[in-house]
Order: sequence, then C-alpha cells, then structure tokens
Amino acid sequence: MVRRLSGEEVAVGQLLDLVQEIVTDYALFRILHDGRVGDVGLNALPGIGGFGQTAEGGTGAVEALTDPMRLGDIILRTRELLHEGDPTGGCERACYECLRTFRNQFIHHLLDRTLVLPALQALEALEVNPVQQPSAGLSFEELEAQCQSDFEREVLAAIRDRGLPLPDEAQKTIYDGDEPIATVDFFYAPRILVFVDGSPHYRDYIQAADTRKRRRLKALGYRVVVVMAENPEAGLSDLAARVGG
Ligand SMILES: [Zn+2]
Repeated sequence: MVRRLSGEEVAVGQLLDLVQEIVTDYALFRILHDGRVGDVGLNALPGIGGFGQTAEGGTGAVEALTDPMRLGDIILRTRELLHEGDPTGGCERACYECLRTFRNQFIHHLLDRTLVLPALQALEALEVNPVQQPSAGLSFEELEAQCQSDFEREVLAAIRDRGLPLPDEAQKTIYDGDEPIATVDFFYAPRILVFVDGSPHYRDYIQAADTRKRRRLKALGYRVVVVMAENPEAGLSDLAARVGG
C-alpha cells in the first residue's frame, strides 16, 4: 500500500493507474528506461500502450514503483522532465522534450504538463509502506493439536473468533539463558506470553513458582497475559489490547 499526503491509502495498482494517467505511458516508459532511476528491465512494461498490472511482465514496474527511493526518483525525474525548475520556463503545454512523442501525435492537443505537475508535487511527501503479510506461522489446527486441555482449545477458538492474530507457538518453554523458566500455553513473538489457567502445568507453575517467576519473565521483557477459566473475557481483552484487533 502507498500512503498519500492526504492520508488516503491507495493500492499499487491504483498508483500505476494514477501515474499512467498523469504522465502518459510513453513518458513513463522513457523515465523508467533512461538509466537515471535504474533500468527496470525491458519486461517491466509490456508495451508502450499496455502498461498495466495484469499484463505479463508487469511486476518489474510494480517493484520500481513500490521501492520508496526509486519511486521518489521517478517522481522527481518526471517533474524535471515536465520542465519544473527549467530556467527557460519550458514549453507552454507540451513539447517533444516532455509529453509529446511521435506516437502520441494524434492527442497532442490534449497534452498539458501544467495539469500534471501539481498532482506530482502533491506526491512529494508520499510514503511507501509494506502491506502487513498474514502470519506464515502455525495454522489453527496445528496450534489446536498442541493444546493440552479443553479450556486451552476453547481459548484458542475464542482468539480466532475474536479476529485476533493466532499465537505463533503453543507450549513454548521460555528460557533465561540455558535455564528453563516456564512453559507457556501460547506465545506471540517476540514477547507476549499467554498462560491459560486451568491447564495442569499452569497450576503446577503457579504452585511451584508463583509470582516470583512471573516477575522474572516480566523482568526479561515479556508481557504476561493470563486467561482464567473463571473470567476468560478479562484475559482475552488484555490479550486483544496487546496484539491488536
Ligand atoms: Zn515541454
């Protein structure tokens, strides 16, 4: 996704459409291939008139436009090409140095660089943000298979049903150096620990180690969330506040 100055988010495909609209296919082709922003490869643009995200080979251009540095370069270069800061002032609307080409001569009367420049200048503070990928971790079924009690399975289902991210691991042992401190029911990388009260090992943990170990986990930088059978909602809300959703 790309965030524009207004805060509005547009997808890469829409950005391609926008760039295509405002600089014309051929100007973009020249910009991408003039060697100053780096050649995006001859396959990047399927054809002078067929620049689109669905066509074969379109990914090179998508990559070029999603790399913030290159995208910034492309936009600056485009503004330059449209005579921004040109000491001679540039052409009135369009010339063969900017938007006009032999191939687009039948629309020369429509080309006007002064309509294009403000749109490009408005992209000045554009930021490119990677789309957050869904976790490639364990599936619900894989996590469920590692649960050691019905209540753990219920909590896992509740996490899913609330639309919260699934834990990265289940039954994970947390170490301080080489020393195992505790086994947590659910673990969210890098440091959220979920204890589900009701599972036998959790009771052992509580009885044997009590709050001292939990303090130790917290001192190690972990966030500890406890979901108790008596009041699972409280623990789930705490978890939601920490993992989002
Ligand atoms: Zn010109």
